[in-house]
Amino acid sequence: MKIVIADELPNSAAEVLAEPGWQIERLVRVPRTDLIAALSDTDALIVRSATKVDKELLEHAPRLRVVARAGTGVDNVDVAAASARGILVMNSPGANSVSVAEHALALMLAATRSVARADSAMKSGRWAKRDLSGAELRGKTLGLVGLGRIGQEVALRARAFGMTVLAYDPFIAAQVATDFGVELASLDELCARAEYISLHVPSTAATRRLFDRDRLARCKPGAFIINTARGDLIDEAALAEAIERGHIGGAGLDVYEQEPPRDWHLTSLPQVVATPHIAASTVEAQEQVGLEIASSVREFLHDGTIRNAVNFPALSAEEFGRMRPFARLAQDLASLLAQIGEGRMEGFLIHYSGEIARAQNEVLLSAALVGLLAPILSTTVTFVNARALAAERGVEVIESRSSRIRNFQNLLAMELRTSAGTRRVEGTVFDHGSARIVRLDGVEVEAPLEGTLIVMSNDDQPGVIGEVGTILGRHAINIGTFALGRETGRAAAVVSVDETPEREGDGRVTGQVLEAIRAVRAVREAKVVRL
Ligand code: NAD
Repeated sequence: MKIVIADELPNSAAEVLAEPGWQIERLVRVPRTDLIAALSDTDALIVRSATKVDKELLEHAPRLRVVARAGTGVDNVDVAAASARGILVMNSPGANSVSVAEHALALMLAATRSVARADSAMKSGRWAKRDLSGAELRGKTLGLVGLGRIGQEVALRARAFGMTVLAYDPFIAAQVATDFGVELASLDELCARAEYISLHVPSTAATRRLFDRDRLARCKPGAFIINTARGDLIDEAALAEAIERGHIGGAGLDVYEQEPPRDWHLTSLPQVVATPHIAASTVEAQEQVGLEIASSVREFLHDGTIRNAVNFPALSAEEFGRMRPFARLAQDLASLLAQIGEGRMEGFLIHYSGEIARAQNEVLLSAALVGLLAPILSTTVTFVNARALAAERGVEVIESRSSRIRNFQNLLAMELRTSAGTRRVEGTVFDHGSARIVRLDGVEVEAPLEGTLIVMSNDDQPGVIGEVGTILGRHAINIGTFALGRETGRAAAVVSVDETPEREGDGRVTGQVLEAIRAVRAVREAKVVRL
């Protein structure tokens, strides 16, 4: 396993990745050509904001499975290009929330109490006591635009200052607001009531320039605007004008439309306290961001656990742990279908029943599509790009579910429709975690889903098991289990075998072995499946 760290990360982060057999290469501030060369056999790439992970870079990284951004914004990563190549993109969004929240409070206090102006007067030998009276935060109303990770941390701290906290966040559960002692409000109401407005939303099409001339005009006279989120949430020219007119009392800014700003007019106003995008620049946040991203990468490379992915639905560690055996089952069942199926794939149906029908189970469809497409595509197929690849190839995907429990607590049923016909399989996971196929093309047959399987259908006649056993024995192939199911004249068999390829010419289920099995009179079909 090779991991490249392309930007500065604390040593503690690299230590998290120190595993026997894992090679860590630190390539900080090296020429891009060196980085590109190193990526030819790299599994994971960790960056901060300096390295541009663009399409060209990704094209030179055939083995890359994950790009990890230590920090929140992934502006420096071409997420679409990574997704198309099946590469997971992760970030470490929560690690600096407290640092940013504390900075938002620092800006509120500094703007209200003219800390920067007072300090600058002192430094120039001026006693400006009379010019610089302020106000208390206590009893004032704070309006949070966005009640996510950082907004919540700000709410906690603002309440400790005795403030009333409102939030505008149409996507947050009402219970979260209640838990943090926050009253949810519309943006208009928030602007009309708040003496302080602090922004904590991402920059999206809906939030860009949310605070434009019109919105600022609707703010309570004398209100302070605090922005530690993203510069483009505010029309800076309009804010400068509103402050100069005296409608807005002042601002505390850490982020700007252009960084560094091209026009310094807004930051030079005496009512504005400005810092150069340092809200997350604390010892603790840097350490935490590095540790968090390194642990996420480690878990992903180790056992596939996905945390904080920006191009894959999030699953908590607990949910992922619960779903993992079923994801394995989905992938193996679908892979079996792909390997026994013939013809062009046209449609794929997956049906969940029992407990997994109720769980957060998006991961199962992705896993199934990996199983279905990986055996036939040359591109790397992963959870990240499997759905897009299926759509690209015109495979119609249908999901259905029922919470009714049949013979098994959980059951995954799949159907693959191709130009040659339709094949069906069903499978389950037993209590001890073992994945089994339980039905093949309507015939009940129970076998473990692992290793090499010979999947057969035959007329229900005596002697088939003996003849197949003899053929396998002749080719030095050991039989693990021989599962047989019957249904009115038809039989299906799943034979798990041990292949011992070290034996010259023998010990493997070759085309010749399959031909010999197919030549047995009652056998209609024999295919090998490798999982
Ligand atoms: P988060 O994803 O946890 O929270 C964002 C919240 O905004 C969510 O609750 C979401 O529901 C809400 N939201 C999204 N669209 C909205 C809309 N149109 N209207 C209202 N609410 C909306 O994010 P976070 O970690 O709290 O980060 C908040 C902001 O802080 C982001 O812009 C992030 O980039 C920025 N940030 C800045 C720094 C810095 O150094 N200054 C560091 C980290 C994060």
